[in-house]
Amino acid sequence: MFCSSIGRRLAVAALLTLTWQPLYADNTVAGVCAAVGKKLSSVSEKECLALGFAQPRFFSVNGRAMLEKRFLAEESDAPRVLFIGGIHGDEYSSVSVTFKWLNTISAHHSGRYDWLFFPLVNPDGLLRKKSTRVNAHNVDLNRNFEPAKGFPNALKHWKTRAKKRARYYPGETPLSEPETQMLFQLIEEYHPDVIVSVHAPHGILDFDGASVKPPRRLGPLYLRQLGTYPGSLGNYAWFTKKIPVMTIELPYAGIMPKPKDIDRMWNDLVRWVDRKVKPSAATLAARSKQKPTGLE
Ligand SMILES: [Zn+2]
Repeated sequence: MFCSSIGRRLAVAALLTLTWQPLYADNTVAGVCAAVGKKLSSVSEKECLALGFAQPRFFSVNGRAMLEKRFLAEESDAPRVLFIGGIHGDEYSSVSVTFKWLNTISAHHSGRYDWLFFPLVNPDGLLRKKSTRVNAHNVDLNRNFEPAKGFPNALKHWKTRAKKRARYYPGETPLSEPETQMLFQLIEEYHPDVIVSVHAPHGILDFDGASVKPPRRLGPLYLRQLGTYPGSLGNYAWFTKKIPVMTIELPYAGIMPKPKDIDRMWNDLVRWVDRKVKPSAATLAARSKQKPTGLE
């Protein structure tokens, strides 16, 4: 009797679990482009499709395709920039502006630098009915990296200093999320010289790293170095991997910068990459040893 009742309960629980699994029929680039076009007034489905994103090789918690686009350099020792938008799903402008820059580079790629773009790292957060900073597991992806040596445990820090605010929940363990695992893997195999991550709404330019001098400004955004949080990408990439991270904090999450300012920020960024960013001898050696990967 007892056993069969437990068995029945287990069967019901299993059925409920199945019923409650999120079902996304479309895990393709086209599916994400259609959803992004519906969600963001500044990005159209057509514009997204026209960018020709690669066959997806990474997926979010809910199985959505990660949009990925590489622009190859002509020379193998050219600077490499890993460019990410939308790690926080409620920062709409960070995704929309990254799309505008993708359009620009698609039309004018010089071949002097190598760019790897992921314009929407947290598609589940953005594409919820009410968009969220966190991913589908309610984890702040920008707190889910392994804290650098000498920095506190991210979960402990969240429970005390961050006062358990849900928006900053780092997850139970570092790299628990497929989205952060993806960024971890990209850093290992792409060996970027700099990572650019677009956020909103603080209206500043932040920079973690001392191997290269940051620009004083990007268009209307002035440099203000705020320091890093344990578990953030800036903390991991700079303090553990010695890869500088530029954080572009747009002034508003829901309002686009003026087209003139979008162009100025891009031009200032490219000028800075051109003048300051050079791969180190160690990075070039690491790249030459890299086995062929899924990178296009
Ligand atoms: Zn953010």
